[in-house]
Order: sequence, then C-alpha cells, then structure tokens
Amino acid sequence: MKRLIRKIVCVFVVSITLLGAQESKEAREIVVSIQNTKQNTPFKLYTLKGEEEGATLLVIGGIHGDEPGGYFAPALLADFYTIKKGNVLVVPNLNPDSIVAFRRGIYNDMNRKFARISKGDPDFKNVERIKGIIKDSKVDFVINLHDGHGFYRTKWENSIFNPRAWGQTYVIDQKTLDNVPFGNLDSIAKEIEERLNQTLHYDFHTFGVRNTETKFKDEEQQNSLTFFAITHLKPALAIETSKNIKELPLKTLYQLSSIEALMGIMGIEFERNFVLDLKSVEAKVNTFGSVKINDNITLELDSIKKHLNFVPLLSDKNRFSFTHPIGGVKKVKDGFELYIGHKKVTHLKADIFPMQCKLESLEVELDNKEVAVKAGDILEFSKDFLVRGQDGLRVNVIGYSKKGVVSEHNLRLNPNMIDKNYAIDKQGRVFRVELYEGKNFCGMLNMRTKE
Ligand SMILES: [Zn+2]
Repeated sequence: MKRLIRKIVCVFVVSITLLGAQESKEAREIVVSIQNTKQNTPFKLYTLKGEEEGATLLVIGGIHGDEPGGYFAPALLADFYTIKKGNVLVVPNLNPDSIVAFRRGIYNDMNRKFARISKGDPDFKNVERIKGIIKDSKVDFVINLHDGHGFYRTKWENSIFNPRAWGQTYVIDQKTLDNVPFGNLDSIAKEIEERLNQTLHYDFHTFGVRNTETKFKDEEQQNSLTFFAITHLKPALAIETSKNIKELPLKTLYQLSSIEALMGIMGIEFERNFVLDLKSVEAKVNTFGSVKINDNITLELDSIKKHLNFVPLLSDKNRFSFTHPIGGVKKVKDGFELYIGHKKVTHLKADIFPMQCKLESLEVELDNKEVAVKAGDILEFSKDFLVRGQDGLRVNVIGYSKKGVVSEHNLRLNPNMIDKNYAIDKQGRVFRVELYEGKNFCGMLNMRTKE
C-alpha cells in the first residue's frame, strides 16, 4: 500500500548533544496539559549538519510572537535547506506561546530576560536552554530574527523613516568582537546590507546597519539575547525586517536572503529545494503540512475545515505532532485551536474518550484492493471502500448511517452515500472513519477520494 504520510520521528531528548544528533529534521510533540503549568511551551531545535566540516551558525526565530518575518524564515530554513559544508542550528520558535497569541511577549518581553531571569518566570526554561545552546563551543555565530517598526534611516524624515526605527536593519551591539573568528560584526553586517540592497522589491525597503553601542549607551539592550551572546564571545546580530511591510512572503524572502548572505560569508554551503523568489516563498509560507494527534488521528492542514466537531481526544495530555516547524496548539474552552505560526488553521471541538485499545491493524478494501492499515492512516480510493469487521471493533463512518446498523463494517461505501457536510476538508473529499472498542476510541482513518 502507498503510505501517504511519512512516519514522524518523535524526539523526546531534552538534554541536547549539539550536532551529535543524527535526526536533522525532527518533529517534536507538543503535549497539552490541563494543569496550568505557567511554563512557555518548549521550542524546537533543528540540527542541519553538513557532510563537510565548517563553521556553525545558530539561527534563532520567534523571540517576539508578533513578528512573523522572524519565524517563517527559520521554519523554511529548517524544512527546505540541506547543508553541504558547515552546520546550521535552527530554533524557529523560541517563544511558542507568544507566537500562537500573536503578541510580542505574553509573559513580557523575552528579549529583556537574558541578563537575569527568576526561576518562577514562565520563560525561564526556554531562556536557560537557549543560553546553553548559544554558549556551546561549536557555535560560531548567532542571529536573532525580528520584524521591527518603521524603516531605518540615518537622518530623520518622519515617524516611519528615521534613525530610531528598527525595521530593515542589521543590528549590532558593537563594531567588533576582538580575537574571535567572524568578530568583525560591522563589516559583516555591511556586507549583508550591500548584498540585500541590490535585491529590493521596492526602493524604500533599503536595509541599513544600526549599531546600538550597547555596552556604553544602551542599558536596556544589555538584557538582550545578542548582548548575552557577545558577552560570551559569540558574534551576534539581529536581522530586522519591517512591521510596515505587510506581505509576509516578502519579509520571509528578505530574511532568507540575509541568512544566505551570512552563510556565504561564513563559508557555509547549502542547497535548497526551491527557487528563492517571491512566488516560491509565498507558496512555502502557505503550506501547512499535517498534524498527528495522540498517534491515532492525522489531519492535513492545507485543506482542513475551519471547525471540526466531535473530535475524539483525551481528557488530558493530548499529544500533537506537526510536520511544520512552527505548528502550535492553544487550549480553548471546548477543545483546541491549531496554528501554523500566528495563523489559526482550525478549531477542534473535543469529544473526550479513553483510548485503551488492543487494535493494532485492520483490513480495508480500497476499490476492491485489500490493504492492511492502522489508526491515523490516510487512504485514497476512487470508487468505494470497505472496512473489514474485526472482533470487538466498532466502525463509525461519520456522515453515513443505516437504520439498525451499529458498526459500519463490511459495507461497501462510495462518496455519494456519505454526507459531505461531515467531511474533514473544505472540498468535501476526505471522510472520517472512526474506530472504537467498547468505550475506547482507537483511532481515525481518513478516506480520501482521488481527484
Ligand atoms: Zn522583535
């Protein structure tokens, strides 16, 4: 049988062996507990390791939840780039709870917590963990990605274009970090600036280099991530696209182009499986992948309806595993909302079940062809399907009912027999087949009609 969904490798390792990990593109589970733990959701770390030795760049996105240019770019980097020489570590979502809320920082500004943070702070674990990654001896350079206000100009023009604006800047804390490889921050930033300013989509999107002279002039900035890096002798800069650029694909394109320019300077060689232009980036930004819930339901997020009713879930500790690097979950009154970055993709109204099942696999006929399947599979058929009966198994095809039939197994069903209003997707092509043993929910099969 053709498996449509690639098996997701879940990695639970909390202590990190940087670059030691073989799995470079892991999908990690988000476990949502009903207890309010007052801890930010853990962030993801992707290790893109080149075949050839070289410098290591750490890319950090999503420290501010309302700056999508800062988290869609690293998500694309983690998903679609292969490193040939050197290494790239990618944290696409340093502040997951704020991204889902689309707010700068729901536990206050995380970028002001790097000089000191109390143990009771909800950001404590994420801040301490990223500090450890920044300090790792293998890391040669750190970038922190943002969307800032306005457009930076050396001379005051108006409230949008001025020297105090953060938008379209490469922010450095000081000109150089002496006796450290890649410590010439000012000239590196200027090289990226020069390169980017040749590729602007609008002339007024010009990038500039802004030196905050943090050590001597900016006390507040001394609490920031980049200054933490600098004080630990790690060259660092912030890349800021502009909040005033409304097109997310364009901001993402500028961010990726800046990262590529820096990789070039660092001698990091890479391949990506798409053309770096606005159209391709837009297509990538609007592709959401899928989520696996409790290992027994798979939902494809690109075509999913805005609301799904009666989704069988656990009373507590539901596990969500997204293929997308910045997939997120928000607990709401009647269930969960699923997000890609700050974009709400769907709302699941929960129907609570225990899930103590013996079911391991079952047999299904797709257009008269018999296949062995398991809960959570996505199956395709042209004409009809039939779920074979099994001892103790109750089959419920959502949107189909026949008087007197309790379990809808051994029935050959075609799309015309099922109410499309109950389909999972907007097009009405994917039907839910739910599997139960007594009171327990065992899983869902997605039956998709071929186009
Ligand atoms: Zn920011």
